[in-house]
Amino acid sequence: MHCLFCDQIIQQPSSFTQFLFGIPSVYCCKKCEEQIEYTSDSHAIYFYNSFMQDVLHQFKFLKDIRVADFFAKALKKKVRGMEYDLIIPIPMHVEMEKKRTFSPVEVVLQQAKLPFQSVLEKTTMSQQSKKTYEQRINSSSLFKSLPQVDVTQQKILLIDDLITTGTTIKHAKTILLELGAKSVEEVIFISGKK
Ligand SMILES: [Zn+2]
Repeated sequence: MHCLFCDQIIQQPSSFTQFLFGIPSVYCCKKCEEQIEYTSDSHAIYFYNSFMQDVLHQFKFLKDIRVADFFAKALKKKVRGMEYDLIIPIPMHVEMEKKRTFSPVEVVLQQAKLPFQSVLEKTTMSQQSKKTYEQRINSSSLFKSLPQVDVTQQKILLIDDLITTGTTIKHAKTILLELGAKSVEEVIFISGKK
């Protein structure tokens, strides 16, 4: 069998690999395992080091769906015991979605068998440019909400793949609270905070 990340042949899967993947369809070699760092950010799981940058690239741009397993297992563990009514993934730009043909966050949620609702949609650049400066700096202008899901009085759990500045999450929280959500928490796969 081969390592999911570096393709090196593995003789004996490590206990970490077995823990992470169970009876595995994918493996992580010792060398790659040692490069995984965790973040001190309580809302996130992994630290965005150069290894994790490559992992994210392999998943999002090379579209290696097997990587979803890696994040799905960690996500399931992270949300266990958390109190929420509704999971909402942070959407990517409509243009990006077309290019990538799949939504990484949604694929991980499906893999983790965590039910979710797509409530938010990123506003397109053209929609944004039609707005005035004031409207654009308004915190909720990054997203629009899709009307079919009622979030009133719901405890929301937002899921995203990478957090750097936190602006996206802040905007999503604002719009969901404006829509009547009771509370909004987030879990992010990877954080830029060490
Ligand atoms: Zn490896």
